[in-house]
Amino acid sequence: MALRIIIGLALTVAAAAIAGRRLWWLYRLATSGQPAPERVATLRTHPGSGAETQVTEVFGQRKLLQWTVPGVAHFLTFWGFIILLLTIIEAYGDLFSKTFAIPGVGHWAFIGFIEDLFAVAVLVGIGTFAVIRLRNNPKTEGRASRFSGSHTRAAWFVLLMIFLVIATLLVYRGAQINTGDFPYAHGAFASQIVGHWLSPLSHGANMAIETTFIVLQLAVILGFGIFVTYSKHLHIAIAPVNVLFSRRPDGLRDLQPMRSNGKVLDFEEADPDTDVFGLGKIEDLTWKGMLDLGTCTECGRCQSQCPAWATGKPLSPKMVILDLRDHAFAKAPYLLAPSDEAREALPEAVKAEAQRPLVGTADANGVIDPDVIWSCTNCGACVNECPVDIEHIDHITGMRRYQMLIESQFPAEASGMLKNLENKGDPWGMGQQKRGEWIADLDFEVPVVDGPIGDGVEYLFWVGCAGALEDRAKKTTKAIATLLHTAGVSFAVLGPAESCTGDPARRMGNEFVFSMLAQQNIETLNEAGARKIIASCPHCFNAISNEYPQLGGNYEVIHHTQVLARLVAEGKLTPVTPIEEKITYHDPCFLGRHNKVYTPPREIMEQVPGIQAQEMHRCKERGFCCGAGGARMWMEERIGKRINAERIEEALGTDPDTISTGCPYCLVMLGDAISAKKGSGEAKESLEVVDVAQLLARSVARPEPAAPAAPAGPAAD
Ligand code: SF4
Ligand code: SF4
Repeated sequence: MALRIIIGLALTVAAAAIAGRRLWWLYRLATSGQPAPERVATLRTHPGSGAETQVTEVFGQRKLLQWTVPGVAHFLTFWGFIILLLTIIEAYGDLFSKTFAIPGVGHWAFIGFIEDLFAVAVLVGIGTFAVIRLRNNPKTEGRASRFSGSHTRAAWFVLLMIFLVIATLLVYRGAQINTGDFPYAHGAFASQIVGHWLSPLSHGANMAIETTFIVLQLAVILGFGIFVTYSKHLHIAIAPVNVLFSRRPDGLRDLQPMRSNGKVLDFEEADPDTDVFGLGKIEDLTWKGMLDLGTCTECGRCQSQCPAWATGKPLSPKMVILDLRDHAFAKAPYLLAPSDEAREALPEAVKAEAQRPLVGTADANGVIDPDVIWSCTNCGACVNECPVDIEHIDHITGMRRYQMLIESQFPAEASGMLKNLENKGDPWGMGQQKRGEWIADLDFEVPVVDGPIGDGVEYLFWVGCAGALEDRAKKTTKAIATLLHTAGVSFAVLGPAESCTGDPARRMGNEFVFSMLAQQNIETLNEAGARKIIASCPHCFNAISNEYPQLGGNYEVIHHTQVLARLVAEGKLTPVTPIEEKITYHDPCFLGRHNKVYTPPREIMEQVPGIQAQEMHRCKERGFCCGAGGARMWMEERIGKRINAERIEEALGTDPDTISTGCPYCLVMLGDAISAKKGSGEAKESLEVVDVAQLLARSVARPEPAAPAAPAGPAAD
């Protein structure tokens, strides 16, 4: 008895020392990053939402269960380990007393049953994981495997460790049944089966097995505990913390303002020598960013959904996180050195790692290749999938900001767009006077705001650059205006007073141009007294509703599909003319995934007689990007397959007569891809992409314009 107590306690103290040292090192590394007071403030102001994410995402495994089979396997393993904490307490107690019982639990048969049930559940879970890993083997599947680039050997080792935890548990419990030491008279069905297998052995042999396997179980658990702190399984310990401090409601929608030393950067006073301008060095990450790196489970869900990765680009959101993590760990001795002298004394390899540029080509020994950060469309699929709430877009944007503002290194073809935004207020440089020209094509008046909107006008219709200036998108704008007019909705537009929201500049990393345009627009909107805004472009919709509040602009913003769906539901718009077509709807990422508007466009299509709606395989929260977001619209796509081509091929798989969407960017990107497919004979000549508003306008009966009233008296000469 004494020997096993000594061995058990010695192992525990040694393991606690090794794991504790590692955890302290990790804590120091994380806190060497920038402060993030806003994360703590969010938790203080929204304690309920912090608790909710713990319940739904950590204990409920919500995001993991989005993938049914691996989700259920993880659910069983997670809850198995929570329940099996009881058995660990029992194993420790057994070191000291054969009659040990957990206070308050005692030897209640139900506990024995539940422990065995979850032990078996964990075996089922890890068996499922093994099959999943065999079927997604990166060696045979290549890039198609979500584990491509992950540390697969460590994952197999962890599965083995978990198996050993359960195996040693069931063996010592089985032996206990034969020695009479087992605390539960009934219910522990799996232990009873193992006990039955061990029953031919003598009492002495069962005693030896019991003692050996209790100590072995503790040794495996303690070894596993140490391994966790040195591997991707660190997520077991820190994922709940990462989820707790994640953005609310998620890392989508808005980009965060640039912060330096915990404060929002003021461009007029900022000093590039002392302030942090985006992510230029790994230590420019906040502690939450560092926590993200340590939390990644290498599951590859993000990678599997990334349109850039799927079309052969070098960007994998998983590898961005892993490469940053590897660099942070390798640079850690340098970051944690107490003095310049201590840094000088570090091995040359560490000093060389510390000098690596965060973004740079292989020739420059960069940690992340520039093509990686500029391939991102900001579609949000990675953030949406990540089960531990890692905020990939924020990290990619941080690197873009530094490259843009400090290094002036960005795809050259986008410089014209940025200059046009600065000088003319739109990406094409067409000038503000052209913004109202579409109105002349309508047969009714559209008030253009010149001063305060006035109480009689309910909505300000934010047309957006594409909606005002791009020929295909202008058709959508006119359809929306016509439908609002038909429904009797009072609205006005800003016309020449409207400028780009700044979204393409911000997504490129040019926060300076974004804040200039945003402040100008907020001033215009406030002067007009706008409160309720209809936006037709999801990028404008997202910027005004989610990003302008960062600069003091607070408005009620709705997308045109939301207004139109409501008007149809209220009977103010009645689609009557049948459209006898098979139509597939493409979810714009900034409308769907970023802002969760999935239903209204579909509701509109449902109400139009004749439309046969056909979903693509990748739709709604799993929708596949058109390739234009993240300012990719303004960059050449030189690597891999074109994202819009990939999307159109999927759409063609539904054999559509028409493709519909709710975004002018998507309209242009998908339209271009259709033209290319028509050129190669892969798409029928009649195929077109239209906005849902255009479909509705085609179907809605409009009253004929009133005939001019007859003159009351004789015509004047
Ligand atoms: S936002 Fe989209 S394109 Fe960018 S890394 Fe994530 S999944 Fe890939
Ligand atoms: S970033 Fe998230 S989704 Fe991607 S591999 Fe890591 S844990 Fe999985």
